Amino acid sequence: MRCFDDGVEVLLQKRRKEVKTMKTLYEVMDGSGEDEEKLKRAGEILKAGGLVAFPTETVYGLGGDALNPESSRKIYAAKGRPSDNPLIVHICRFSDLDRIAWDPDGRAELIARAFWPGPLTMILKKKDVVPQETTGGLSTVAVRFPSHPVARRMIDAAGGFVAAPSANTSGRPSPTSARYVAEDMDGKIDMILDGGDVGIGLESTIVDLTEEEPMILRPGYVTQEMLEKVLGQVSVDRTILDAASTQRPKAPGMKYRHYAPKGELAVVEGEPGRVVACINDLCRRAQEEGKKTGVIATDETVSLYHADSIKSVGSREDEEAIAHSLYRILREFDDEGTEVMYSEAFSSHGMGQAIMNRLLKAAGHHVIEV
Ligand code: AMP
Ligand code: MG
Repeated sequence: MRCFDDGVEVLLQKRRKEVKTMKTLYEVMDGSGEDEEKLKRAGEILKAGGLVAFPTETVYGLGGDALNPESSRKIYAAKGRPSDNPLIVHICRFSDLDRIAWDPDGRAELIARAFWPGPLTMILKKKDVVPQETTGGLSTVAVRFPSHPVARRMIDAAGGFVAAPSANTSGRPSPTSARYVAEDMDGKIDMILDGGDVGIGLESTIVDLTEEEPMILRPGYVTQEMLEKVLGQVSVDRTILDAASTQRPKAPGMKYRHYAPKGELAVVEGEPGRVVACINDLCRRAQEEGKKTGVIATDETVSLYHADSIKSVGSREDEEAIAHSLYRILREFDDEGTEVMYSEAFSSHGMGQAIMNRLLKAAGHHVIEV
């Protein structure tokens, strides 16, 4: 067994003394000849009903055998996830889609060819082999073929079908590196495969193909425009962007307050100069009350703020950089004990739709307009 980081090892030793928990194995995927052995071990654990966290191109996943109801139950328990919130089944071969889901009109095949392997999940009618425990009692199943090489090799070693939600405690920001997985999951799962920082940093796009018109249930890296090029008209579940909506989102998980940091977060929207002035004013007032303050800024504005901790998500022009940094920054604020945070708002076009969706959820839809 090897550890990825001295700091993390100290943290884990401390936690193991606090609570008597199961031993979690940590394995660094370092490109050496030993990787194959580690993946074989992960596959054995998964086949035996155990849980393994692993890197994907979006965020880290918490994997269990998707066809074993007991594994899915364990995933819900480890995350503290409500059992009506279904899991995404990850596959590593196009041909395996047909074993678990129906594609009556060929649309699944069409978008699989366009976007798989990659950060796109589709909802389809499930076949009987997929247990209700994995789909939260639904007759549909969410399926994704990730592109990350460690994910693909691990899924193969596990027999081809791995149910995996994000590898965080329910309600916390999804983990973008193995140290954040360890923070939430050490002592609760069998193994963590450390494949370094993830590439995208936000969860996959989810598209529902069970209705006549395809609908995006969760925005992500694959945008509405990209899907429309392949499928024709695609709608977006409006309940996920509109805080005032009283309707239930179609993806059960989108109704929960997700991705949240421990402190209070608000998004400040408006003309850039006024946003800076408003955030500085709010931070000053919070500091006067003795609170530790934080600002989520951009490269263009980072030098203009006064707060205890000011972090840039990257250039406002670079949506990929913003997506990549958002969850890491929310976790860093937690580590620093930041109590009150303010964020600038971002464009909600293209991938910005996914960024704003996650940011607004992290803020519990608390928006201040200036
Ligand atoms: P996570 O596993 O943390 O990435 O979250 C998976 C998301 O997919 C949750 O919001 C689930 O509610 C959603 N999901 C999974 N399966 C289905 C399904 N069959 N129908 C609708 N949404 C689903
Ligand atoms: Mg999640």
